[in-house]
Amino acid sequence: MSSSWPHLVVDLQAIRENGERVVEKCAAAGIAVTGVAKGVCANGEIVRAMASVGCAEIGDSRIKNLITVKKMKTGLPLLLLRIPMVSELKAVVETCDRSLVSSALMVSLLEETCASSGATHEVIVMIDLGDLREGFWLNNTEEIASALARSHRVRCAGVGVNFGCFAGALPTGEKLDRLVQIGRELERELGYPLKVCSGGSTSSLALLEKGRIPPGVNNLRIGEAILLGLDVTFGRSIPWLRQRTMELEAEIVEVRRKPSLPVGPFGADAFGNVPHFEDRGVRLRAIAAVGRQDVRVEGLTPATEGVSILGASSDHLILDVEDAPKPLTLGDKVKFFPDYGAMLALATSPYVLFDVF
Ligand SMILES: *Cc1c(COP(=O)(O)O)cnc(C)c1O
Repeated sequence: MSSSWPHLVVDLQAIRENGERVVEKCAAAGIAVTGVAKGVCANGEIVRAMASVGCAEIGDSRIKNLITVKKMKTGLPLLLLRIPMVSELKAVVETCDRSLVSSALMVSLLEETCASSGATHEVIVMIDLGDLREGFWLNNTEEIASALARSHRVRCAGVGVNFGCFAGALPTGEKLDRLVQIGRELERELGYPLKVCSGGSTSSLALLEKGRIPPGVNNLRIGEAILLGLDVTFGRSIPWLRQRTMELEAEIVEVRRKPSLPVGPFGADAFGNVPHFEDRGVRLRAIAAVGRQDVRVEGLTPATEGVSILGASSDHLILDVEDAPKPLTLGDKVKFFPDYGAMLALATSPYVLFDVF
């Protein structure tokens, strides 16, 4: 274990078990799993665990992460989850086997890039079924079909959809029926069979549990369920998975008794918000050495008894520790469970050590 704080302690075995259960449950419904690595910045041990439990592909939204994954030589195909940037197309076709696309223009640009790099590439055409992030609106696929028909190096692998990412739109059996249907139409327009019908991410597992994923759907792209056992879109812990798979440990740098109300007059805090305080009298407070630069503080749940979070600035996490059973002192460590947003930030902070055991 490392001796530098803050660090994120990751229970690899718990993540492995989650991966096994997700892969097994999906396989029973004829669904292959793309293991999504962006939540942990494509950490090598976690990506290898995803590969070893039977994920069929590794996905990430950042080309930089996928370049790292490629060097791991897992043998699995790599999927770019964010529509490529025009400025990164060369790296995309040289690194990834597939990417998600949402325009005919992108297909043509990928085709050109492949021609000059001597590469081939597959695309999954994204369909927007209501979440209002990327994708063709409903079934407007004729234009992309003709761009694909003109492409020799870019082939369509299939269709895909996102739920619960921007607008919080939930997956439903009807929406997935629609996706399968759009896939069939595109297949007819292209004149070759599509391999992939990708029915969403962790939030689609709720439908899988109820047996409501239509037969044509054969892929899900899963990050949160494997990494945390959580489903933020439906606001639930997934009952057949393990939670609390990782803990943030931060070190106490101040412990002091202070009133719970600040002294005015008041302006905004360091982030432009005007905070509100409740008068609870004089309380024992502590400062932990971690802050908004490293983590989404609202996504932390204290794991150390008697500790609650009062707020944070960029480098200081302010805690109420009045009720801690054992008085905290300088150098003590306090622990927190991160949610997806907190994990995402922690995994990419250069100040936070990743400690996988
Ligand atoms: C992040 C991402 C996923 C994985 O989502 P989870 O909720 O973590 O399972 C799937 N698809 C796309 C396009 C993504 O960006």
